[in-house]
Amino acid sequence: MSGPDELSCDLLVIGSGAGGLSAAVTAAWLGLDVIVIEKEAQFGGTTAWSGGWMWIPRNPLAQAAGIDEDIEVPRRYLRSELGDGYDEDFVAMLLEQGPRMVSFFQNETSLAFIDGNRIPDFHDRSDGSATGGRSLCAAPIDGRMLGSRIKDLRPPLAEVAPFGMSIASGADLQHFLKATRSLSSFLHVARRLGRHAFDMLRHGRGMHLVNGNALVARLLKSADDLGVRLMAGTPAGDLIRAGDKVVGVVATKAGLPLAIRARRGVVLAAGGFPHDTARKAALFPHAPTGQEHWSAAPLANSGDGIRLGEKAGGHVRAGLSDAGAWAPVSLVPKANGDVGRFPHLIERAKPGLIMVRRDGRRFVNEADSYHDVMKGLFSATPPGEAAEAWLICDHAFLRRYGLGRVRPRPFPTGFWLRNGYLRKGRSPDALARACGIDPAGLKATLASYNHDAKRGSDPQFGRGDSPYNRVQGEASHQPNPCVAPIASAPFYAVRIVPGSLGTFAGLRTDASAHVLDAADRPIPGLYAVGNDMSSMMAGRYPAGGITLGPAMTFGFVAAHDAAGVPLANNRS
Ligand SMILES: Cc1cc2nc3c(=O)[nH]c(=O)nc-3n(C[C@H](O)[C@H](O)[C@H](O)COP(=O)(O)OP(=O)(O)OC[C@H]3O[C@@H](n4cnc5c(N)ncnc54)[C@H](O)[C@@H]3O)c2cc1C
Repeated sequence: MSGPDELSCDLLVIGSGAGGLSAAVTAAWLGLDVIVIEKEAQFGGTTAWSGGWMWIPRNPLAQAAGIDEDIEVPRRYLRSELGDGYDEDFVAMLLEQGPRMVSFFQNETSLAFIDGNRIPDFHDRSDGSATGGRSLCAAPIDGRMLGSRIKDLRPPLAEVAPFGMSIASGADLQHFLKATRSLSSFLHVARRLGRHAFDMLRHGRGMHLVNGNALVARLLKSADDLGVRLMAGTPAGDLIRAGDKVVGVVATKAGLPLAIRARRGVVLAAGGFPHDTARKAALFPHAPTGQEHWSAAPLANSGDGIRLGEKAGGHVRAGLSDAGAWAPVSLVPKANGDVGRFPHLIERAKPGLIMVRRDGRRFVNEADSYHDVMKGLFSATPPGEAAEAWLICDHAFLRRYGLGRVRPRPFPTGFWLRNGYLRKGRSPDALARACGIDPAGLKATLASYNHDAKRGSDPQFGRGDSPYNRVQGEASHQPNPCVAPIASAPFYAVRIVPGSLGTFAGLRTDASAHVLDAADRPIPGLYAVGNDMSSMMAGRYPAGGITLGPAMTFGFVAAHDAAGVPLANNRS
């Protein structure tokens, strides 16, 4: 019997990102009574801020488009990418259950997907890499479809969403970048802005939901349709155990303790530790006090799930090549004194941008993945020095693509110059002095880069060499979509600090998402998914979507285990 301050269910999920909601929706569909508790006032976590891309080789959308890969090809890619971190059990689970997970959500819930069939893997030189057919994203959705639930959906990340309006990658983004140069793009943007203004007035938020916001919206709708009890503002505080077995959670609701009993288990899905200072100090070599890292993930992701797992006997997997999904971040001053974190995911591959350290030298192919760019910065930074760099571009680039939080034409730049976010110089020398960069170093770098850029080449770091670079670049800019001279004064810079999209190190689990104890035995009743589960990529980053793809897949897997339904038997 449950009292007023006690609830019970079959499966209790802690956290409402992709990992938690995938587990919750699947379990409810399999017949379990499910509760999701969320610490914040709104659901969605980092997932709601994300691009929403999931890396699922052999997914049904790729197959429908005629991309029919043998399972051995992505397996070879993971083997070559993950090296000694390769774990056949996890890889088999992702490659076999990932497509099944997509079919399940597509056929049985409110999820719909768009394909990423032209998105290449990050590393074309690794055996088994593909130039597409391994990614998908939630399809955009009209927020009205959620009814009153829309108010519970975390809005998109303010730094990347102009006026709260998410821009979808692909065609939508291209229209925004070309709005001042193409009539059809101008009309597209005008329509989008008009509709957004209407939605803001009418609903107080954008209703054309895309990317990770659409993924969470669709998962929330599915959860509601299946009767999942969704409880926001309900942080998990402690696990309830009976002997070795986890049988529930003590949470806090409206300041009061609330015990929730879970007959089939508890799923830790609290989104890793991007804001756990102590764990960052322990696991991020560039952040000796834990303060030298500015993750773009929400502040509520403070490592609660991992700590709960440890208290129950779990442990954090050691030996990952990198404990976080690194990303270059710039710090955005806000009117209220806060500092926003802008993750630089888009503009680095466009033609006419380089990145230098304070010695004025380049250190990496800036068009490579966010993770690889930061690894390059960490390697180039001498011990004891802060890992910082500057994105450098000229006037033509700034007005065409923008730079971080500074939007392209027709948006003004004065505000960003006055608050110091954007630095400007009439010459490379003046820009270097405005940033504290060695002027001679920057001058030499630009001379050498521009010399080759006139021919569209970058012999030093190979911008534009890989399919991934070129897709991220500017297709119409030839011969190299990622290379143009940086020559039209004035020149601009934005400072980059180490950041992340989330964390990779997490609780050690088996491939069914059971949290393992120190002797590698499953802790009865305890699962971890999403970033609370240590990444199956072992700290490597083979492709975009390698957190959300596994988060969705292992949520699906954990739910089957909790429901006692064999995976092979799922009806989709
Ligand atoms: C700008 C950006 C773009 C990204 N794009 C992509 C992409 O396209 N593809 C990709 O694979 N990855 C992407 N990522 C990374 C990805 O979003 C995250 O790795 C992923 O969302 C993590 O999912 P999760 O379910 O583990 O956690 P989250 O989505 O963060 O959800 C965890 C939830 O748990 C809640 N919580 C925390 N503590 C408690 C507690 N004590 N009790 C109850 N609830 C709690 C949190 O509030 C949060 O809502 C991106 C990240 C960012 C920041």
